[in-house]
Amino acid sequence: MNIMVTNDDGIHSNGIRALAEAMKELGTVTVIAPDRERSAAGHSLTLHSPLRIFELHKGWYAVDGTPTDCVNMGIHNMLPIIPDLVVSGINHGANLGDDITYSGTVAAAMEANLMGIPAIAFSLATFEKSKYFTDAAKIATQVARQVISNGLPSDTFLNVNIPNCSIDRMQPPLITRQGKRSFIGKIVDKTDPRGRKYFWVGNEEPHLNDEPGTDFHAINRQHVSITPLHLDLTNHKSLPILAEWAF
Ligand code: MN
Repeated sequence: MNIMVTNDDGIHSNGIRALAEAMKELGTVTVIAPDRERSAAGHSLTLHSPLRIFELHKGWYAVDGTPTDCVNMGIHNMLPIIPDLVVSGINHGANLGDDITYSGTVAAAMEANLMGIPAIAFSLATFEKSKYFTDAAKIATQVARQVISNGLPSDTFLNVNIPNCSIDRMQPPLITRQGKRSFIGKIVDKTDPRGRKYFWVGNEEPHLNDEPGTDFHAINRQHVSITPLHLDLTNHKSLPILAEWAF
């Protein structure tokens, strides 16, 4: 197995180190990740500036781009062969509900999925300092093993959220659907030392609806949450409704 590891927290984060270490059990690991934190980069692609690669040590490459750039660079330029699996994470912070659309972690897996490569995004559900990345990495290995042995359904990649606790306190994995967020947007406005206003997106935790069957519901009860995702954003239920419109 050839496994590519990436993330959006940057190549120096604890989560990617734990994930890369764990993936060694399953095959040959190459890490290609952003040279700095790119959280909330979403699926952005760098088109208007060059990209550079820095080899940190054997099998570890930093790219001065987004998570999506890293997957692109890895697949189309850097890796000698197409990897069997792309894993992204372990993100420091959950990626649940509608918030996944902002996620660079999830977007990296999405990019690999676009290229037809099995892909999994992993996130640890806490924004606090955590000692559980190694526990989360054990879960990542279990999930990756399942993906390798079963294969994924077509057009599917996985968004895995892992509770912030030791592995023996975690509840078994649940297959979940993407939850819904109640939007509490918060913009902080302040004044800079030169008297000009500036604005900063607030960091309050998103409020997600605690509905049974959702990723949020599972994580709230210390289950590992596994959500199968696909890229078709079409609202299929709306098709017949809009088809009635008189153009
Ligand atoms: Mn992140």
